[in-house]
Amino acid sequence: MALRMSSLFVRTQKEDPVGAEVASHKLLHRAGYIRRSAPGIYTWLPLGLEVLSRIEKIVREEMNRAGSQEVHFPGLLPADPYRTSGRWEAFGPDLFHLKDRKDNDYILAPTHEEVFTLLVKDLYSSYKDLPLSIFQVQTKYRDEARPRAGLLRGREFIMKDAYSFDIDDAGLDASYEAMRVAYLRAFARLGVPCLPVKATPGAMGGSGTEEFIYPSEVGEDTFVRSPGGYAANVEAVTSIVPETIPFEDSPAAHVEDTPETPTIETLVDAANASHPREDRAWTAADTLKNVVCAVTHPDGTREIIVIGLPGDRAVDLDRAAGTGMLGNGEVDLEAATSEDLAAHPELVKGYIGPGLDLDHPVLGLEGSSKIRYLLDPRVVDGTRWITGANEPGRHVFDLVAGRDFTADGTIEAAEVVLGDPAPDGSGPLELARGVEIGQIFKLGRKYAEALDLKVLDKNGKATTVTMGSYGLGVTRVMACIAEEYHTDSGLLWPQHLAPADVHIIVAGKSEEIAQAAEDFTSAFESEGLSVLLDDRNKVSPGFKFADADLIGIPTVIVVGRGLAEGTIEVRDRLADEKSELPVAEVVATTVAKVRAAYAQANAAADAAVAGVTGVSGVTEVAGVDGVTADSAPAADVAGQSLTD
Ligand code: ATP
Ligand code: MG
Repeated sequence: MALRMSSLFVRTQKEDPVGAEVASHKLLHRAGYIRRSAPGIYTWLPLGLEVLSRIEKIVREEMNRAGSQEVHFPGLLPADPYRTSGRWEAFGPDLFHLKDRKDNDYILAPTHEEVFTLLVKDLYSSYKDLPLSIFQVQTKYRDEARPRAGLLRGREFIMKDAYSFDIDDAGLDASYEAMRVAYLRAFARLGVPCLPVKATPGAMGGSGTEEFIYPSEVGEDTFVRSPGGYAANVEAVTSIVPETIPFEDSPAAHVEDTPETPTIETLVDAANASHPREDRAWTAADTLKNVVCAVTHPDGTREIIVIGLPGDRAVDLDRAAGTGMLGNGEVDLEAATSEDLAAHPELVKGYIGPGLDLDHPVLGLEGSSKIRYLLDPRVVDGTRWITGANEPGRHVFDLVAGRDFTADGTIEAAEVVLGDPAPDGSGPLELARGVEIGQIFKLGRKYAEALDLKVLDKNGKATTVTMGSYGLGVTRVMACIAEEYHTDSGLLWPQHLAPADVHIIVAGKSEEIAQAAEDFTSAFESEGLSVLLDDRNKVSPGFKFADADLIGIPTVIVVGRGLAEGTIEVRDRLADEKSELPVAEVVATTVAKVRAAYAQANAAADAAVAGVTGVSGVTEVAGVDGVTADSAPAADVAGQSLTD
């Protein structure tokens, strides 16, 4: 196939799109791949569609390889199945709702667990029909609060979603593992460095889940890893809970005047000055900080809660909201506003505490505030604290957890910081940012139960099916590939993902040059390679080179002045190399190189999975320079999987 710049529906842009912050957004717009239609909603142009379809092809091949069969659901769905599963509410304002002319409720599907479940229920009835794995590549709709960064977070986006159906837990484990391998292979072939990390199920429910994270500063997710190979989303990190401490000999709690100490810092200074400890100085870690927050539940109700945590820790609102400990479904958590505080005069700003009498608590559902009180898991029974006395300028000292106060529960709300211990004892954690490009879930029986998906087992007894669900963000991955592979002057795709295999530039006005470029184009086409031919008459070579740099096909062939001497310039932009080849060698050399790149991408998938069985080694994640489809990403993935 040949695309001709003279007629191709594309106009490259000099200016970045308004408000764009990340390279992929800027470059996909400027190179004429996508156009914004509305916030978080994009139109696809021919070059964009070509790359997208190459990505989809790889994803489909890996799904098929894992034994999954392709189906296709509508994006427009009746609301009822989502009501039955509870997600009509749980999705909250992220769900796009609409009505038909008969006033029936519909949604634009944000994900498809419910209807896949119903389809299988419709067709299957026996354990002999299982296991089953089916998938689709389909458009999803989510009214994201903050669509951003072009394709990275859209309100309309393409997801590959797969679902597995098994008769028992062992079956689900095997289905999950097959998908995990398919993801490692797909991301390796796509050239995206990625790391599987432990995650929390959130609104999806179910047991085990992992996210596949592309480590990058542009990501909105923070994840952690340890030298011993632990990797998790911050939401999934669990604190190491200390042993409880006997408190028979602990001094009784006492209230002290601590004027002008509304912050932890001022409190610690005042405590050391006027109430020093014998054994050592007070530190922020001795104080119990009580933070007032507002939870917005999926049904819109707003709940004020108080979170108690050691004073040397900050609250991480996203982590707390993502733990699933605040309620069912996706909740929003924010710091309480001054109006919230005004509505609760019992909460004395800067001096809030649980109260010093177990029988007459201040905080907690049983307390005078009737406000839910949740504690950091490190606040175990027997720990001694300095905390607010619920009066301006006064604090309680030696307040003992379990003796003087209790809470309504615990919550992992504290910010995870560099050096915190990994929960599995594999060393100190380091933090990094990344983009979630996929997530796989062992859903279990939640959806099958809600929608009554049962089959007859061996003994003829109706048994609830157990399910897995597996999402991969196709358009988001494309943005991540663009993040990973670009230069200052434009995109620079891995060879096998570029919108054409070869970019031929007519760099001269003569008939011979034009004809030679046409001949190369036909020769590549007959070898099965696709070509983008820059045959524009009135455009200078300089402009053509700039466009080629922006569009990002790594193999560029310049048919120009050298032709008279029988040579052609061939550029390998990924290797940053230029060579002058004799005319007769151009096609064979280039075809061999392009085919090798395709083969390398496939080999990368094998290497990634070799890691799963412990064969492959660990290599660094490489940057743009010199990345070939076979090296860094695969090795990174493979190295990671060794530790699982
Ligand atoms: P996020 O936490 O980033 O909002 P999510 O956890 O809600 O994502 P899932 O429900 O797990 O997303 O969806 C599966 C995959 O779909 C994600 O791993 C991601 O790659 C992709 N995806 C989700 N939301 C978006 C979006 N708004 N735009 C583009 N891709 C998305
Ligand atoms: Mg997810």
